Amino acid sequence: MATATTVDWEPVIGLEVHAQMRTKTKLFCGCANRFGDAPNTNVCPVCLGLPGSLPVMNGQAFDFALKTALALNCEIARFTKSDRKNYYYPDLPKNYQISQYDLPFSSKGWLDIVLPGGEKKRIGITRVHLEEDAGKLMHDELGGGSGVDLNRAGTPLIEIVSEPDLRSPAEARAYMEALAQLLEYLGVCDCNMQEGSLRCDANVSIRPPGQAKFNTRREIKNMNSFRFVEAAVEKEIAEQKGIYASGGAVRQETRLFNGQTGEIRTMRAKEEASDYRYFPEPDLPPIHVSEEKIAKLKGSTGETPEQRLERYLGELKLSEKDAGVLTEHKEYGDFFEQLLKEGIEAKAAANWVISDAQGVLNDRKLGIESCGVDAQAQAALLKLVQAGTINRATAKEKVFPAMLETKKSAEQIVKDQGLAQVSDSGAIEKTVGEVLAAEAKLVADYMSGKDAVVNALFGRCMKALKGQGNPQVIRPILEQKLKAMRDAK
Ligand SMILES: [Zn+2]
Repeated sequence: MATATTVDWEPVIGLEVHAQMRTKTKLFCGCANRFGDAPNTNVCPVCLGLPGSLPVMNGQAFDFALKTALALNCEIARFTKSDRKNYYYPDLPKNYQISQYDLPFSSKGWLDIVLPGGEKKRIGITRVHLEEDAGKLMHDELGGGSGVDLNRAGTPLIEIVSEPDLRSPAEARAYMEALAQLLEYLGVCDCNMQEGSLRCDANVSIRPPGQAKFNTRREIKNMNSFRFVEAAVEKEIAEQKGIYASGGAVRQETRLFNGQTGEIRTMRAKEEASDYRYFPEPDLPPIHVSEEKIAKLKGSTGETPEQRLERYLGELKLSEKDAGVLTEHKEYGDFFEQLLKEGIEAKAAANWVISDAQGVLNDRKLGIESCGVDAQAQAALLKLVQAGTINRATAKEKVFPAMLETKKSAEQIVKDQGLAQVSDSGAIEKTVGEVLAAEAKLVADYMSGKDAVVNALFGRCMKALKGQGNPQVIRPILEQKLKAMRDAK
């Protein structure tokens, strides 16, 4: 029998993701749901938990949560209720959190993810439920002492619990990324992890391969980056291996990962559900979810990232790489589609968004949809390329930067700066002849069989035409002339 140290352990990982809903107001009151305001300015008797105040459910938050559950292929309960989860903590003014316990509004869904190796895996979703966020304790920010900011108290959260279907740190990260992408597509969460609008807890255990039963798990709380999730799970697996290797036993506990040091420390022994003394929230009526509502929200989920990816690969025949980049962020793909609507061919639009425009915009730290030159104007530029008026390099290196600076139309800039490309075959023949006469060394190389020098000669011709020659005219003329020279030899 293998000893503990030689056992190749199998990790078992489940994630609980908390996503803040992008609603205007909080879950049970009319206070603004906004990040970054001065502490304790978006508060009222309801979210402060003052006696006598009563919560009212935010319909938008409920719809967002339902829409998310539908996009995650969950079964929707027709009857659902809220529960009080009782615990004391300084950032929780009511001493309880309104959450959902035994009758969540959805369960038994799934999300397909693409693993780092490229294969697909279906991850089960145990449940999606709605709850309110707590406030935020401030320690370092105050320069001495601690304070609490209750602007976040009562912010709508959806909790998405996965089945323990993930088997490696990389899978955990891939799941988290796929989920964030879906939430962004649905428009229900801004997924700004630095601001804490998407946070993740990981339940991790390890077992010898072939063992059906799960071993005791430990939970790592509140990670707010994809990288941290992967690193924390990795570290936790290593620690548990160490415990088993030395003959110890893993005890159930809640732990905290420090992204700066990469260390994990124990926060507390894990609470059981019974420690929270859950009971139905008496101030909120249960909710009956109608078939009409489900049908309506189902119709509003729009295209998922996966569906869009498949459409780009199938219908638009884009490469996997291009389709992957364009679907990564919704705004990116949306902009690409605006170019298509303007009549730009898919491959040309993809090249523009991913490569040519991106290069210019990155240098200026601008986003393609927020650079001040809209899709229509950029499409007009690409049409000049399609029509052969300018070439791709001129569009990228000269016209687009000028559009960003002057906000003038592409056509105007081409006219003002005389950038129209030379397509006149007489002029090009003359230039090619001059280049061949001047580049005796390259021509000699070609004559001795080095076909690759054609590209160098093409470059010289383009340079002689100040980068404004039409490649489709230059190349055949150049190749024809060279071939004639070789044949004459
Ligand atoms: Zn309030």
